[in-house]
Amino acid sequence: MNERLENIISLASALRLASVDFEALYKNRDDLSPLAAVELYLSEQLKIKTEKQNTIRRKRAELPNEKTLEQFDFGFQKSISKERMLRLCDMTWVEQAYNICFLGPPGIGKTHLATALAVKALDMGYSVVFTTLDKLIKDLKTELISSQSKRKLKNIYKASLVIIDEVGFMPLNTQEANLFFGFVSELSEKTSMIITSNKGFDEWVDFLGDATITTAILDRLIHHCEIISMSGDSYRLSHRKSITR
Ligand code: ADP
Ligand code: MG
Repeated sequence: MNERLENIISLASALRLASVDFEALYKNRDDLSPLAAVELYLSEQLKIKTEKQNTIRRKRAELPNEKTLEQFDFGFQKSISKERMLRLCDMTWVEQAYNICFLGPPGIGKTHLATALAVKALDMGYSVVFTTLDKLIKDLKTELISSQSKRKLKNIYKASLVIIDEVGFMPLNTQEANLFFGFVSELSEKTSMIITSNKGFDEWVDFLGDATITTAILDRLIHHCEIISMSGDSYRLSHRKSITR
């Protein structure tokens, strides 16, 4: 290998830059001036770095799947318009730390739409974390003794958008409801939240247990919030696939 090239590779490594395939990068580019060659090299470094950061962000988001709006049948789910969802794709609400609540019975596409918005946000460079209320409460309870919980919560507090799925499935005890309140307070007006719930707000007291805590949580959550109430038949049940026909 050319001595100069070897030196460039070791300098790049000392600077913690990615290794670049010089042969491929400069193939048929004998015309490049020295400055243009440096420019091309640095652009390639930026491209590699951005791709790496995107991969890390996607992994950190822990989305259960990557559903998209394109896959969503707005003809089947008529209680929300495609236009309304497309408007939300500009992510101005994330900039303003607004929340979105998808409410409605199981199987109607709440998690699908929440993840579709999360995918758009990731594509636009926002940091996103997905969790369920059940997992969130577990993480909040074990933050001091579990490095995994601590790491997850750290990612959540650093994110621009946090999705809390399946709110209302499990009843919370007083300590858990208080932890949830503390969490919502911590994030409110700083971080956008997408909440999905199978319960209407008037039923939240049923799983949160205490009227005062419920009011306090809802107060913070819906102060700046797009509420999307959905209804209709379960897509899952209507499109059930059977092994035997
Ligand atoms: P929910 O969170 O409301 O219980 P999901 O979002 O998990 O429902 O939807 C259940 C399944 O049905 C998922 O696989 C989802 O992709 C699919 N689904 C729901 N509604 C629609 C729809 N209108 N068009 C396409 N797929 C849908
Ligand atoms: Mg769901």
